[in-house]
Amino acid sequence: MTALDLLDLDPSLTEEERQIRDVVRRLVDDRVRPYVADWYEEGRVPARELAREFGKLGLLGMHLTGYGCAGASAVAYGLACQELEAADSGVRSLVSVQGSLAMYAIWRFGSEEQKQRWLPPMATGEAIGCFGLTEPDHGSDPGSMATRARRDGDDWVLTGGKMWITNAPIADVAVIWARTDDGVRGFAVPMDTPGVTAREIRRKMSLRASLTGEIVLDDVRLPADAQLPEAVGLKAPLSCLTEARHGIVWGAVGAARDCLETTLAYATTRTQFGRPLAAFQLTQAKLADMAVELVKAQLLALHLGRLADAGRLRPDQVSVGKLNNVREALAIARQCRTILGANGVSGEYPVLRHANNLESVLTYEGTSEIHQLIVGQRLTGLSAFA
Ligand SMILES: Cc1cc2nc3c(=O)[nH]c(=O)nc-3n(C[C@H](O)[C@H](O)[C@H](O)COP(=O)(O)OP(=O)(O)OC[C@H]3O[C@@H](n4cnc5c(N)ncnc54)[C@H](O)[C@@H]3O)c2cc1C
Repeated sequence: MTALDLLDLDPSLTEEERQIRDVVRRLVDDRVRPYVADWYEEGRVPARELAREFGKLGLLGMHLTGYGCAGASAVAYGLACQELEAADSGVRSLVSVQGSLAMYAIWRFGSEEQKQRWLPPMATGEAIGCFGLTEPDHGSDPGSMATRARRDGDDWVLTGGKMWITNAPIADVAVIWARTDDGVRGFAVPMDTPGVTAREIRRKMSLRASLTGEIVLDDVRLPADAQLPEAVGLKAPLSCLTEARHGIVWGAVGAARDCLETTLAYATTRTQFGRPLAAFQLTQAKLADMAVELVKAQLLALHLGRLADAGRLRPDQVSVGKLNNVREALAIARQCRTILGANGVSGEYPVLRHANNLESVLTYEGTSEIHQLIVGQRLTGLSAFA
């Protein structure tokens, strides 16, 4: 491992976990890293091609079992997220939304027919999924959602809209959460159903190598079997978010590591005042502090992954991980940028791209404030939400 593995964490991974990590790293080095700065600059990403590549390697829904999914451990999935996000948070988002949100929702709450229909093509990347919870007027408070599903005979009719939905512009199926007379329910909505439209959200200054969209549902008529039968209440979509947040805990470590590796290499070769930047005490203090935060974040991710594999991971523990690791990764990315000077703002180096991406990661899947409130509730027994 690199000099950044200050605590010799590598041997704490099993041989199989290291192999999965290294295979994903090679794929990312080959198919993502050489191109991602251009995708970011141009605000596009060949998501379908990437999904097929990732599908071939078993990365889509890799921690799920059956239906063509790899059945890997939570730690292996986390390591894959780490390597993907070391290239770009947007590319990791493609995999997270597909596997942890859309596929997981169908795998956990769907009927056997829904699983047979959607999961195998989603695992290969032939079908792309998205997850529609956020609305234009309801973000942190999804319990107030305005999207409605009403019964009409055996059919369901959905009306409303979802906003900021990753993968929506190219999705084949959307898992849509809507309010019914019996509370929140989930629906697997084929995107070619009449009345469904998806518009790409442009001019993002963050996650530019990721497709984000708005979904409008205009009296969308669905057969009764589009409803996910086991999804009852808001706790269903929230359990999907816990899955995805676990991937983010690891992914953020990848982005931070890439920033620090880039910066270490830069600081040891760039000379000012006749010495490498890395020889200045102020630079070393920054590097040391960042490397310490990085290994702490790695330890936290590994601990949470092991808890998940033991079936003992609680949602509030995932909040501890997401809150810390994304916040620290963003701080590392910004600090690294200072060491690169003017080059820090250039797309020739990944650090400001990572920092800009991490602004979205700080906000989606529960903002840092919402995770503070979840941890606060765990500490005090008092909910600050209501
Ligand atoms: C690039 C990107 C991709 C996304 N992808 C998806 C997706 O695939 N699917 C999906 O459903 N959503 C997605 N989202 C949406 C994301 O989950 C929401 O943006 C997020 O939940 C926050 O909601 P909001 O933007 O409406 O902010 P708001 O809820 O309006 O919050 C604004 C600010 O107020 C704070 N705040 C809100 N309530 C409280 C409170 N009670 N106490 C203290 N502070 C509070 C928040 O922390 C935040 O700082 C995505 C967002 C982005 C940026």
